[in-house]
Amino acid sequence: MEKVMLTGDRPTGRLHLGHYVGSLKNRVQLQNSGEFDQVFIMIADQQALTDNADNPQKIRDHVAEVAMDYLAVGVDPSKATVFLQSDIPEIAELNMYFQNLVTVSRVQRNPTVKAEIQQKGFGESVPVGFFVYSISQAADILAFRGTHVPAGEDQKPLIEQANEIVATFGRYYDPNLFQPIELVLPPKGMERLVGIDGRGKMSKSLNNGIYLADDEDIIQKKVMKMYTDPNHINVADPGQVEGNVVFTYLDIFCPDKELVASLKAQYQAGGLGDVKLKRLLNDVLQEELRPIRQRRLEFAKDPAQVMKMLEEGGRRARQTAAVTLSQAKTSMGINYFNR
Ligand code: ATP
Ligand code: MG
Repeated sequence: MEKVMLTGDRPTGRLHLGHYVGSLKNRVQLQNSGEFDQVFIMIADQQALTDNADNPQKIRDHVAEVAMDYLAVGVDPSKATVFLQSDIPEIAELNMYFQNLVTVSRVQRNPTVKAEIQQKGFGESVPVGFFVYSISQAADILAFRGTHVPAGEDQKPLIEQANEIVATFGRYYDPNLFQPIELVLPPKGMERLVGIDGRGKMSKSLNNGIYLADDEDIIQKKVMKMYTDPNHINVADPGQVEGNVVFTYLDIFCPDKELVASLKAQYQAGGLGDVKLKRLLNDVLQEELRPIRQRRLEFAKDPAQVMKMLEEGGRRARQTAAVTLSQAKTSMGINYFNR
């Protein structure tokens, strides 16, 4: 069986540390592992439009930005096919057939979709396209017969629903065309990186992120206003480590685990100030993000070249999706002219 990795991002903004630890790092590692027959990375511009229909410019503006973020973290176009969702009409056609395999109540029950409808304040006025994006996302993956999706924890319910589509398609038409999809989660603690405000996951829409393109000054400012323990007022006071964003980030990014453990003990006992900790975290994050930013600046010099990569990727991706669509129609018995 072919091993095919597929993953993507919505071009609703530049990519941040949450994307980096929750998905990008993993996908670059998988891309370089040599374990996969094919690697696809999709910029989901159509999905982004489902809740930004009134602002296509925002989506358009972020396509090249996201592509540059990819290149900066090590996505390699000689190993991965990077493309735009809107460039592959076969996905939309497959989505149409998949919509017949899913009920309204199933879509409504999807916890990720439910939470997002609430978070965006849509209520009953949710756009139909957004409401059914869980189905189109299954088409995104299955158009390439994807078997592995490296992503954060929020994607679990979406992969579950996609696997139900695989099963129903198998029962109705052909059990061999699509294989079950495996969600490849990042290492523990990184499935859902908290935002700098400590309130929810780091997210483009919540404005609580540190971006891969942020410069040194901005990173430092963001670290300095990071949420810690609100009751830790004087340096001498004992402080709380749980829910303290600075420690969450040190746990993830600081390579010196012994140092972090001893700082935690000091903080809990009292006598360690937030500013000192934040300075350390700032150093750690600057170290991690500097090479990424520098690579990004190189690619940013030539945006036309970046768009060319997407155009070329689209050409290749479309060939694969066309074969899948043809096979899907054959198994449904509606490929009348064998195209
Ligand atoms: P939006 O607010 O537009 O939904 P987002 O910040 O949630 O944007 P997406 O493009 O929806 O980002 O997510 C892309 C990928 O990044 C997904 O695989 C998702 O699981 C992962 N991801 C996003 N935010 C985080 C986070 N804070 N921690 C870990 N993974 C994340
Ligand atoms: Mg999201």
